[in-house]
Amino acid sequence: MGDYLLQLSDNGLARRSLKALGMPTPRTLARSEAPYEDRPLAGQRLVLAGEGGFNATLQRVLADCGAELAGAGADGQPASAVVFDASAVARAADLRALYSFFHDNLQRLAADGRVVVVTATPSSAADSVQAACRRGIEGFTRSLAKELGRRGATANLIYAETGAGDRLEGPLRFLLSRHATYVDGQPITVRERGPAPAEMPRTQPLTGKTALVTGAAQGIGAATAACLAREGATVVCLDIPAAEQPLKETAARVGGRALTLDVTGEDAPARIAGALDDGVDVVVHNAGITRDKTLARMPEHYWDQLMAINLEAILRIDGKLEADGVLRDQGRVVCLSSIGGIAGNAGQTNYATAKAALIGYVDAQAQRLAPRGITVNAVAPGFIETRMTAAMPFMIREAGRRMNSLSQGGQPGDVAEAITFLATPGACGISGMTLRVCGQSLIGA
Ligand code: NAD
Repeated sequence: MGDYLLQLSDNGLARRSLKALGMPTPRTLARSEAPYEDRPLAGQRLVLAGEGGFNATLQRVLADCGAELAGAGADGQPASAVVFDASAVARAADLRALYSFFHDNLQRLAADGRVVVVTATPSSAADSVQAACRRGIEGFTRSLAKELGRRGATANLIYAETGAGDRLEGPLRFLLSRHATYVDGQPITVRERGPAPAEMPRTQPLTGKTALVTGAAQGIGAATAACLAREGATVVCLDIPAAEQPLKETAARVGGRALTLDVTGEDAPARIAGALDDGVDVVVHNAGITRDKTLARMPEHYWDQLMAINLEAILRIDGKLEADGVLRDQGRVVCLSSIGGIAGNAGQTNYATAKAALIGYVDAQAQRLAPRGITVNAVAPGFIETRMTAAMPFMIREAGRRMNSLSQGGQPGDVAEAITFLATPGACGISGMTLRVCGQSLIGA
């Protein structure tokens, strides 16, 4: 069932009536399904503000993106985005720069605008005062995101490690784009860990790469296969035999190959490794199920089946791909976690256990595989408009949809875009992270 409030809110009169009734008035968000561009911000006015060690890098990246840079308060003209370098903040009094700048300039930010605040990591601070202040910037950005949501605008924070300046471009391009529409209120750490790829192409960044997407017959998996292919990857689309027909359709649409098997099969890891004998660059562990019941009522097979698909299959497949040398250097592994794995959920002890386990898994694997330039991350979707959420009872679905800063559910394509970004060479600084794609959901925040 579609989002009726979103449809009503697009009509001016209905929007005013909804507001008068105290109802949410979500905006139809600006999204892009276009391939990555060399100069995605051409013709757009951006404000770059704040003083810090990343300023020169930010200036170069934004100019390369084609943005027309304006200073703080320069002429009061509207801006499509604001990038604020807060890395010089060292004392509590320095935080006032955030208040002053955003207080004076926020009205300039266009609807659907983007705010990205950049600072250094608290762990690299000179002392506890500076560490506290850097962490304070996260609270500021999260709150700002909550204020901006009603305009369809987002605010995110980049924590950059000291030597990670040359890895900022990919995350900045993503967060400022219309591919990151449902990523809101998130802190993203850019690390200098592991060797960077020789090249970080800005367009068609996945050309020449092979990607595996499990659970690709429908939903987020099918959207991810399309998105990876759009950026140049050859995609091997995997799903269960019962989903062979839609799987073949996905594979045909993206010009990829269909691989029909159950990931829990004893021989599944060997069959997958065999099908990828030329090597694989991107592995997206998307196949997943729910088997919801409160714990006392949960039959054993609900627990066992869910663990086998949502967790054990992933561990076994990765083990085999690594042992057989199928996963290439500079590879990318992305697991589908969930905000349920962050917050927990009544009736989902099995699901939350598996999804939380993946958060721990990507953190540990990222450290182990960093010397090979391989990154391992998770994506945690919030409420996404899929068949799964369409089947929820009305009131639960309504609550899930509205309890975020953008007052609406995300689309499968929003999750696919985040996965695709993490799969690119330009995301080499991000590893061991769980990126929420949830419109800044209140759940688990
Ligand atoms: P979906 O049910 O639409 O698609 C899942 C796919 O996985 C299906 O095509 C299914 O056939 C396949 N699959 C299931 N068991 C398999 C097995 N044993 N072997 C091979 N393939 C198998 O789900 P979705 O909503 O697109 O979700 C995709 C992933 O995102 C899941 O891991 C899910 O837990 C996670 N997620 C979804 C949401 C949401 O709101 N939809 C929220 C958080 C997390």
